[in-house]
Amino acid sequence: MSYVWLNGAIVPATEAKISAFDRGFLFADGIYEVVPIYSGQPFLFDAHMERLERSLREVEIPQPVSRAHWLEIIAQLHAHAPLEHAVLYIHITRGAEFPRNHLPSPNLQPTVMATLSAFTPPVGSIAPARATLMEDIRWLRCDIKSISLLGNIMAKMAAQQDGSIEPLLHRAGRVTEGASSNYFIVKDDVLITAPADTLILPGITRDWVLKLAKKNGISVEERPFSVAELYAADECFLTSSTREIVPIGTVSGQLINDGQCGPITEKLMTCFRNSRPKAVKKVKHENQI
Ligand code: PMP
Repeated sequence: MSYVWLNGAIVPATEAKISAFDRGFLFADGIYEVVPIYSGQPFLFDAHMERLERSLREVEIPQPVSRAHWLEIIAQLHAHAPLEHAVLYIHITRGAEFPRNHLPSPNLQPTVMATLSAFTPPVGSIAPARATLMEDIRWLRCDIKSISLLGNIMAKMAAQQDGSIEPLLHRAGRVTEGASSNYFIVKDDVLITAPADTLILPGITRDWVLKLAKKNGISVEERPFSVAELYAADECFLTSSTREIVPIGTVSGQLINDGQCGPITEKLMTCFRNSRPKAVKKVKHENQI
């Protein structure tokens, strides 16, 4: 059976219920976060918590759960579902009130939900994937991890219909991000990605990959880049917490360079995998058999 942490209690997923007047249900008035857990250890936990707390601040929802409490919730969920690797999903809405009104009453009690689901960290080589270029029709505060994801979902469905794993979104020819990922290109050994402004979600994986690149002597530029630059790039890849680094070989049917996984992408994939939390070896004490 699957379990959910809902407003302070662990309940079977099938019994988890919220009000029909929850503002998340009525208005998508809420935010979310996704944290990968490798061998029981949340990866880049503080960075994920910082982004979660910032999203809450930006939409003026009070922070309902402290970082320390989140770690306890993870442990409680683990006790019900002992997964080696997992994805923690956190969903927070402004709360419920009747009657429906766009303007929220002050001091609503946020609705908080968390789940753990199985996660298989990528291993081995990954075949370069297809992406589909499309216009970014989303709102202008993509830096907030809002649960209002209709624009992302429409783009994902269109990409799937095109045989792609992800849309590659642009605004007036400027590449923004994917529907649930950030994009990078490599040109003349320089790693380039869109700046962390309001047009993209500041991906935790994006930030980690930038740090790994700098540490490994790869030049990095965080700056707007165009669709023309994308098509002229030597390499292209996307990043996300659950997919890590995925090489992109084709965008809307057009090869990026020779369509293969390039050397810098390959190097960063290796660095990333080496940086993932490893299983903690249990030390046997002398008096243990
Ligand atoms: N952009 C968007 C729109 C996303 O939904 C995600 C995934 N949450 C990302 C980028 C990648 O972010 P992260 O590396 O933190 O998973």
